[in-house]
Amino acid sequence: MISNDRKRVRRGEILKELGLTPVWRVRERTEDESPARAPESDQVVASAVAHPEFEEQVEQVCVLSADATEDVAEKRRAMILRMDWDQLKESVEGCVACRLCSSRTRTVFGVGDPDADWLYVGEGPGAQEDALGEPFVGQAGKLLDNMLMAIGLNRGRDVFIANIVKCRPPGNREPSDDEAQCCEPYLARQIELIKPKLIVALGKTAARNLLNIDASIGSLRGRLHQHKGIPVIVTYHPAYLLRTLVAKAKAWEDLCFAQSTMQALKASE
Ligand code: URA
Repeated sequence: MISNDRKRVRRGEILKELGLTPVWRVRERTEDESPARAPESDQVVASAVAHPEFEEQVEQVCVLSADATEDVAEKRRAMILRMDWDQLKESVEGCVACRLCSSRTRTVFGVGDPDADWLYVGEGPGAQEDALGEPFVGQAGKLLDNMLMAIGLNRGRDVFIANIVKCRPPGNREPSDDEAQCCEPYLARQIELIKPKLIVALGKTAARNLLNIDASIGSLRGRLHQHKGIPVIVTYHPAYLLRTLVAKAKAWEDLCFAQSTMQALKASE
C-alpha cells in the first residue's frame, strides 16, 4: 500500500510535469501547524482552491504510471484547452512544464485585446520582455509598433500579440521543438478564445510552429496559409528587419497584403 506522504510526493511530481501549479495552491498554514512542523518543500500539500473543476481530472492523472508521459501531456493539453482567459493566464504564470521556467524572470502571456481580429505571433521573449512580462518591448517591439501603426493598428486595440513560447530561452536562442511543444496548448487556447480573423506569423519560428512546415520566410510570404482554418500571413521577424534593411520593403508589402486580406475577410462576413 502507498503511504499518504508518498502519494503526495508523486502527485507533486506529476503536477510539476503537468505545469499545473497555478491551478493548485500551497495550503496556508493552520494555527496548529507550528513553523517547526511545516512540511518539507517536496512534501508540500497542494489543494485545488482556484479551479476545483480541474481537481477530478488531476486526481485521474495521478493514478497514471510515471512513464505514461504522452498520456500526461495529452491530459495537460486537454485541461488547458478547457481554461477560460483568467485561468489560462494563471496557468502560464505558474507553468513549470519545461526547462525554460528555471531561467525566466517573468512569463510573457501576451498583450492586447482578447477579442482582437488580428493576432501577431512572435518567437519568444527576449531579455527586456522577460524583465517586464510583456512581448515585444525592446527595439524589435518599437519596430513592430511602427509596423502596426502604418496600417492603422496599435497593440492595445484590435490586436493581440503573443509568442510561440511564454518564457525566455536563455541567451535569446531559438526555442527547441520540445519547449515549443510544451507551450503549444497555451497558444492554441489563446487562439480558440481570441478567435482572430487573421494571424500574422513574425519570423521562421512562428511560421514553422503555426504551419507545421520548415521553409524559408522568402518562400512562405506573399500568400495565404491556414492554421486550423484561420488565415495566416507570414512575414519577417522585426529583429531580422532591424539587421536587414533591404527586407523592410518586403515587410511593407506583407503588411499591405495583410491589410487587404483583412478588408476582404470583413467584407465577406
Ligand atoms: N522577439 C519575439 O519573438 N518576441 C518577443 O516578445 C520579443 C522579441
